[in-house]
Amino acid sequence: MSDTSQTTLLSIVVPAYNEQDCLAKLHQEICRVLDPHGMSWEMLIVDDGSTDDTARVIETLVETDLRVEGIHLARNFGHQAALLAGLAEARGQAVVTIDADLEQPPASILEMLALWKQGYQIVHGVRRDHPELSFFKRKTSRWFYRVFSFLTRIPIEPGMLDFRLFDRTAVDAILSLQEADFFLRGIAAWVGFKQAKLPYQAGLRSAGQTKYSTRAMIAFAMRGITSFSTFPLRLATYLGLMMTLLSTGYGIYVTIRHFFWERPQPGYASTILLISFLMGVQFLLTGVLGEYVGRIHVEVKHRPRYIVARKVSPTPDCRRTATSKKTCPRS
Ligand code: UDP
Ligand code: MG
Repeated sequence: MSDTSQTTLLSIVVPAYNEQDCLAKLHQEICRVLDPHGMSWEMLIVDDGSTDDTARVIETLVETDLRVEGIHLARNFGHQAALLAGLAEARGQAVVTIDADLEQPPASILEMLALWKQGYQIVHGVRRDHPELSFFKRKTSRWFYRVFSFLTRIPIEPGMLDFRLFDRTAVDAILSLQEADFFLRGIAAWVGFKQAKLPYQAGLRSAGQTKYSTRAMIAFAMRGITSFSTFPLRLATYLGLMMTLLSTGYGIYVTIRHFFWERPQPGYASTILLISFLMGVQFLLTGVLGEYVGRIHVEVKHRPRYIVARKVSPTPDCRRTATSKKTCPRS
């Protein structure tokens, strides 16, 4: 697997959506951390349909450093699709995924590599929250991972975001999966192999704003759970069973009461209550069913999970001779 020689190539995959002010800093930090160790690395920046100057910033980086490559998606396909696009292009024996905003410290890549050299094929970065991270974000994230692990039995911890090292075997296994509903955090834990966790202290966003609004976070959570668990569907069976047992019991009670004690008083309120409650449960469960049918609909279309509009990379000849920063024409 891993060898410590210079021939080992490390790929760093960076999904970027409107990150014009973050990328140069990230690149600088990666150079600062990795270059003293004389490592060969490539940095694949996936421009996920940015509408700011991200594309131009990537081009500048590619011009100044031969190890940088830009992959521009045709539109905004989302964080997970951008990660997948980067994994598909990565050539390294080890591949690290890292966000563009420096919330995840590049210095931890060295520790990940040390674990990789010990034989671990997936190393999950586990975030220790920055004290200034919003209370809301911290709590919602923790709750999501608890619910996710409970429902899916896939052990994801709070703080396992998308800062991760993959060995080539793990990358190839992940790329062989065809599901449209790609949720890398779940898949990385699901594929198996020898896995390790590496805690890191989160930083604050170096510039720009989070791309995960509350709405996007809810959609992300729903996608994660429905693509890994059918428990919500089973919930319908449990609830239906419970309601049937309760109503049977109630029916028996009313009948006995009718014959042996007194005639029941007309109870409009309780009737309305019962009907509206049952209607509510029905709607909820139909909604759950709809979620899954929707997922099936997306899967059967077999659409590509992302579309690459263009790639910006140094010419192969240049890349072969290059070990570090140098100006070179782009392909
Ligand atoms: N991102 C992306 N496509 C999107 C949303 C986000 O490529 O549609 C990237 C973003 O540029 C960043 C990473 O995914 O590098 C994580 O996003 P962000 O930092 O906004 O999320 P947070 O850390 O706040 O959860
Ligand atoms: Mg972030």
